[in-house]
Amino acid sequence: MTGPGYSESMHPENPPEGYTHGENEHIENTGSGTLRAAIFGISDGLVSNLALVMGVAGGTQQSGEAVVIAGTVGLLAGAFSMAAGEYISMQTQRESMEKQLQLEREHIIAFPEEEEAHLSLLLEENGLSKKDAKDVARKVHEDVEPAVGFHALLELGIVPQQMGSPVGAAFASFAAFVVGALIPLIPWLILASALWESVIVSAIALMAVGGAVTTVTHQSAWWGALRQLAFGASAATVTWFLGRLVGTAL
Ligand SMILES: [Zn+2]
Repeated sequence: MTGPGYSESMHPENPPEGYTHGENEHIENTGSGTLRAAIFGISDGLVSNLALVMGVAGGTQQSGEAVVIAGTVGLLAGAFSMAAGEYISMQTQRESMEKQLQLEREHIIAFPEEEEAHLSLLLEENGLSKKDAKDVARKVHEDVEPAVGFHALLELGIVPQQMGSPVGAAFASFAAFVVGALIPLIPWLILASALWESVIVSAIALMAVGGAVTTVTHQSAWWGALRQLAFGASAATVTWFLGRLVGTAL
């Protein structure tokens, strides 16, 4: 393939200097995935700790001490639970992808001609002419790994280089949950009794998070904000009354 005198700069398809389309796109993809995970992590922490804080406040006649202890423990418990869940989910996904890639690799090694013909067909279905599809499939199948990459993308929708890191995801969701869970708790750390301060700060945060979610889902920001406020307020109201019920029974 690489004849005498071949060099990267002589490659006719070499992109002009400063061309970084592929790189930018990769960063953009990773970025939006991380943004999405961060928003949902914050939302989880916020709603769950708001409900916990309100329940304890309702059950202890707004004892600041009890709320701070419960809120802190709830923050940590939730963050660990989120991190463990995220790690296991990503790791499982990764293992299943790697297994599928290995199967594909074995197929390509055992039945190179059939797999090349199959790839050619898939490329044709994706808009290439019969001749181009055949040429590309032949070229791609000169080596096993590029062939695995193409088969993974067209048959499984997997981009092997873009599998996320389970440890990174675990840390990110831990941090996001902590940020969300701190919001209803912070007023109680500052003031002796902070029920309404906590409610107001949390309501604003709920609307902000709900609005931010719509940047991922492409719905109206107001709809997202009010929906999130409704869910958070419902959870907090229910736990407040349940807390009072339990508190007066004891
Ligand atoms: Zn295949």
